[in-house]
Amino acid sequence: MAGSWGCPHEVDDRCSKVNNLPCNPGMKGCELAGRFRFADESKNERYWEKKAREQAAGKPKISSGTS
Ligand code: SF4
Repeated sequence: MAGSWGCPHEVDDRCSKVNNLPCNPGMKGCELAGRFRFADESKNERYWEKKAREQAAGKPKISSGTS
């Protein structure tokens, strides 16, 4: 729990909750939609963009825990 959110529905970047679509936090049907209230939306956007970039770059999914 050090800066890395792992959704229990996310499996290999896909959402087991929403038809195995690519995980898109906040999309319709997403576990997080309407459930989590992020303090800073723009910050969250950047977080997910960063995560997507990291994954696209082939880095391990689990972070080092330091951020
Ligand atoms: S779209 Fe939402 S519910 Fe689905 S895996 Fe991503 S964060 Fe979880």
